[in-house]
Amino acid sequence: SIPLGFFGGIGGASKKGILVKGGNYLEVLKEVDTIIFDKTGTLTQGVFKVEEIVAVEPFAQEEILETMAMAEYYSNHPIAECIRNANRRVIDEKLIEEQYEIPGEGIRSIITGQEVLVGKKEFLEKEKIRPLEYTKPGTVVHISIGKKYAGYVVIKDQIKEDAAEAIRRIREIGINRIVMLTGDREAIAGQIAKELQIDEYYANLMPEDKVTITEKIMEEKTSKGKTMVVGDGINDAPVLARADIGISMGGLGSDAAIEASDVVIMTDKPSSIVTAYKIAQKTHRIVW
Ligand code: ADP
Ligand code: MG
Repeated sequence: SIPLGFFGGIGGASKKGILVKGGNYLEVLKEVDTIIFDKTGTLTQGVFKVEEIVAVEPFAQEEILETMAMAEYYSNHPIAECIRNANRRVIDEKLIEEQYEIPGEGIRSIITGQEVLVGKKEFLEKEKIRPLEYTKPGTVVHISIGKKYAGYVVIKDQIKEDAAEAIRRIREIGINRIVMLTGDREAIAGQIAKELQIDEYYANLMPEDKVTITEKIMEEKTSKGKTMVVGDGINDAPVLARADIGISMGGLGSDAAIEASDVVIMTDKPSSIVTAYKIAQKTHRIVW
């Protein structure tokens, strides 16, 4: 039989928008000493705004935005949504012949018979396209149309309102190793890590690198403490599944991530992790 305290803990958590998939996760939760955060959508809002559009001749600004929106038409990535919102032209779905999303890199699509690549610099470089350099902060999305580099847009995301406070409180409860992982550029990652006072972070990661780093952190551990991964669910289902305990943000999270995680935070707030931890500790006392 299941000890009553588990029910109390899970019920109490769910009233606060924290869905725990089983009492055993409360047991794991209170032994966490390492938290690995995904950046986009987890520590940041994952709601981007287009701030700058640079078109390379013969392409025009509106044209590259429209073509990007077509390439991103079926994607549920926060970047895709932002680009679709910024585009003012009406899109004819029939012109999108193919669309293939490469997680952590971008989109390859065929639009009116031409290959269109939309994504990070390295993604286009692999196809022998030479994107322009952009060194200022901001997430940069490049585009090539029919093998020709066509330009880029700079989009900006914002740190969640309670993220800094959440990190501070996580340290306060004694969880000392806090890591941030991101597929985004070093310039952006460094800036966000600094603002949140996270001193360990890894940038430019592919989804599989996130798994490798998480495994390494878990293997090198000398304490008996558990490792938690917190993600938003876009691309991070594998790493959520790999952790001792995987937490996803329910607001943006994909079905795959909700499936792969052990705890779902419906409030979308990083500070709910502290709430969950405290509930887990109390539950422990009731059970024993
Ligand atoms: P994070 O690790 O911060 O959550 P992702 O792994 O989802 O970010 O994506 C990493 C990078 O890959 C993005 O910053 C972007 O440059 C590129 N990228 C991923 N998906 C897309 C997409 N659908 N459209 C354009 N670029 C993308
Ligand atoms: Mg992400």
